[in-house]
Amino acid sequence: MTAYKNYIGGQWVETVSGRTYPVYNPAHKEQVVGEFQTSNAEDAGRAVTAAREALPEWANMPAPGRAAVLYKALEIMGRRAEEIATAITTEEGKPIADARGEVRRAMNIMEYAAGEGRRMFGYTTPSELPNTVAYTMKRPLGVVGIITPWNFPVAIPVWKMAPALICGNALIFKPASSTPLCAVKIAEVFEEAGLPAGVLNLVTGPGGQVGNALVEDTRVNGISFTGSTEIGTDLYANGARRLKKVQAEMGGKNAVIVLEDADMDKALGGIVQGAFGSTGQRCTATSRVIVEESVYDEFMDGLLSRTSALRVGDGIDPEVDVSPLCGPGQYEKVQEYIGVGTEEGAHLAFGGRALTGGEYDAGYYVEPTVFTDVSPDMRIAKEEIFGPVLTVFKARDLKDAIEISNSVEFGLSSSVYTRDISRAFEYINTVETGMVHVNAPTLGGEVHLPFGGLKSSGVGQREQGTEAFDFFTETITVYIDHGEAARQQARFI
Ligand code: NAP
Repeated sequence: MTAYKNYIGGQWVETVSGRTYPVYNPAHKEQVVGEFQTSNAEDAGRAVTAAREALPEWANMPAPGRAAVLYKALEIMGRRAEEIATAITTEEGKPIADARGEVRRAMNIMEYAAGEGRRMFGYTTPSELPNTVAYTMKRPLGVVGIITPWNFPVAIPVWKMAPALICGNALIFKPASSTPLCAVKIAEVFEEAGLPAGVLNLVTGPGGQVGNALVEDTRVNGISFTGSTEIGTDLYANGARRLKKVQAEMGGKNAVIVLEDADMDKALGGIVQGAFGSTGQRCTATSRVIVEESVYDEFMDGLLSRTSALRVGDGIDPEVDVSPLCGPGQYEKVQEYIGVGTEEGAHLAFGGRALTGGEYDAGYYVEPTVFTDVSPDMRIAKEEIFGPVLTVFKARDLKDAIEISNSVEFGLSSSVYTRDISRAFEYINTVETGMVHVNAPTLGGEVHLPFGGLKSSGVGQREQGTEAFDFFTETITVYIDHGEAARQQARFI
């Protein structure tokens, strides 16, 4: 079994305590993916020291020079794409096609961020004072902690790292404990690309120790977190108390509205993909569908027939649509929610069982599950399940549907299927989510557009798009008096 190490100051090192932990393949519970470092606050502190030492040189390198390292990393990731995709499926469980898509996504982000190296714009403006030049410029934020979840173990870290690096920051990367192999691969890519020692440091281990140490360390200037609302809320408050810049992208309970004039085929395709693709373990997964009464029966017929055609199995098999849940915690949580839905009086219209027998005994498989007769006050209607469970609601009209859509604490992504442009705009202007889709699934986004949620789904600056570069920099305002005479101008502040 391979024992993987932390990457600190350009060296692959063991923890201070010498402790390690195993990670298992969710499709083959007995198969160990590798042994990883169980780091603690002291290891995190060492990584912060390494990052602080590396920061000045990296921050002072012209941005196009930093871009050259990113372009090299892009090339290496392209060469190692299949190996990295396989690592995602082996460690996280998602179907190999999704894993390949995730690697491509990470590469797109690198390419986009590298290009931005030539666009680190500030602005100039006429000064109110004579003989004075006034302008703004960007400076790196400094040392930044990158804390990430397991469900996109390559794309999410890279969509934080690539903009952070191009802006000149030094990083400490704390990946989710269940997906450290992908994190090791990312660090290897940047090491091979020639990123100077200490600019990217990897520390694996429990969030309560390593992640928390980064939030509490006064030498860390910012934290970019993606994960659950529960952890993110505390982390944001702890960071803010220390006057750190923090962005927290968190949970979702994303809804699709299907109106009577929808292209039903398109809607069904988008909803089944959104609900059950990647086993429902995406922050943007579809977990609620709200259907206008008049087309409810037609919709349900199509939904059940498409859901029953899905193939469940090991994600490494390219024919598989729905793969195992990421680990025992997810497996229990999803089954618990299915139990809650039944107890609350929702109708189990499809699935609901943990799959057993044959290959299923080796992994954490739960059937794609559909609940109908769901009301907005039920727990399965309000809480993030993060698995292949879809809840279906009936709505009288668009207004009623939007009310149901907005009735949750989350506000990440949403979608409406309609051919009516007025109703589409009424929806766009009133739905409470950070990302809004029309006639498309709730999933995904493009790297050059901001990604993030409202309400309990996100706080702090958006990720990706040009907003990402705002988070990873500080704006400095410069005034230069080039006149020869002493200035008598009143100053108000
Ligand atoms: P999580 O339990 O909140 O963990 C996220 C990260 O935080 C992990 O690296 C975790 O480490 C670390 N952590 C745990 N406790 C911490 C603490 N006290 N201080 C600092 N860091 C700590 O989330 P998850 O289960 O990995 O991911 C699933 C969640 O992420 C879902 O809610 C999903 O919606 C959300 N998500 C959101 C987005 C988005 O962009 N909005 C994207 C993807 C996922 P350990 O693994 O060691 O516990």
